[in-house]
Amino acid sequence: MSQNRQELLTRDAECYAGERLRVARLNYPPRWVTIGISSMCTNHCTFCSYHSLDARDGGSNVYGLKYVMPLVRFKSQVDFFHAGRVPHVHICAPGEPFLHPDIMAMIDHVIARYGKASFQSTFNRVVMARGDYLSKILDRRVQISYIVTDIQAGEATGHEAIKRGSSFADLLTTLQILSDAGIRIIGNFIITRENHANLPGLINTLYKHGIRLRLNVENLFPHMFNEFTAMENVYHLGDRDIAASLQEARELAKATRESIELTLPTPFGDPVARCSVFWDKIQIWPVKGVDPARYDENLVPHACNAVVRGDMNSLGYVSDYPDVMALWNNPKLVALRTKILAGEAPDRFCWSCPCGVALKGSGLDKVSGPAF
Ligand code: SF4
Ligand code: SF4
Repeated sequence: MSQNRQELLTRDAECYAGERLRVARLNYPPRWVTIGISSMCTNHCTFCSYHSLDARDGGSNVYGLKYVMPLVRFKSQVDFFHAGRVPHVHICAPGEPFLHPDIMAMIDHVIARYGKASFQSTFNRVVMARGDYLSKILDRRVQISYIVTDIQAGEATGHEAIKRGSSFADLLTTLQILSDAGIRIIGNFIITRENHANLPGLINTLYKHGIRLRLNVENLFPHMFNEFTAMENVYHLGDRDIAASLQEARELAKATRESIELTLPTPFGDPVARCSVFWDKIQIWPVKGVDPARYDENLVPHACNAVVRGDMNSLGYVSDYPDVMALWNNPKLVALRTKILAGEAPDRFCWSCPCGVALKGSGLDKVSGPAF
């Protein structure tokens, strides 16, 4: 990396520290861009707003939207964000990235631009075998910054009940191979009132199998299309049973001597939670209501309820902007930041979000039922 680029990246990081949640028009580019490359998936995870069978009639704005991002479009977007000094792009999908026929070319393009690449997968055995993808990942082990996957329990029944269509045994085998190769793994565990007791067992299983990873314990985005995604299943401040599971998990993770690194969730109702996504990152994702021909360049914050249930279907299209700063300071994004700084909610569905509930106009006044 040239000295000039390094100096600019350092300056951007300083601006981020000074401007985050303070000003609406920013002097630094997004810290992170997630590029969703395709909607094809082998799973129907219970919580998934795109593929859960319950999402179909459950009010999801994204269920069943079909698209595949062409390689040429992917490359031009990576080049655009790299030229705009976005420090990190992440390959993801409202689906399984390894179902995209050009996935390895995409990973290699990110490596060519950034030196490293990160991506998401559920490691379906048939899909991975079809492209000999595990060997190809291992060949690039030095250039892979990390791989993200979901893991919902330390045994098959609990995991597969939530990650419908996936195989716990296959996932565990793959994680062992990746961990033995020294590849950094990030496991996402969504904690709820229903499944919090799975967490200690998960840590025990990972440790027993010698798998090193960072385990992100995350609160649920309650999309409200089935019992798992109901408001009543969300981890709230004061949930003693969940606090006890988290404490047990903390102690178990500590005993692994850093094999398992744990990050903890923000409970619903936490008074210090703030919506900071519009200062941090942006994502390319399809949403109902935008031009389907532009799904592969449609910008959203992430898959929160403002997008999945509310009215936030587009923050712009990548190719409409001459550079990253024009995109990042577009009128929609500046207006959203201005609202949040004034204590107002960006969307009528923010009441259902741990970091939006306290904002004025979050819609909470129109909601009956959920116990906060
Ligand atoms: S693997 Fe991911 S995209 Fe596929 S159904 Fe599950 S959560 Fe949705
Ligand atoms: S507060 Fe609203 S816009 Fe912010 S992350 Fe939550 S749902 Fe999304």
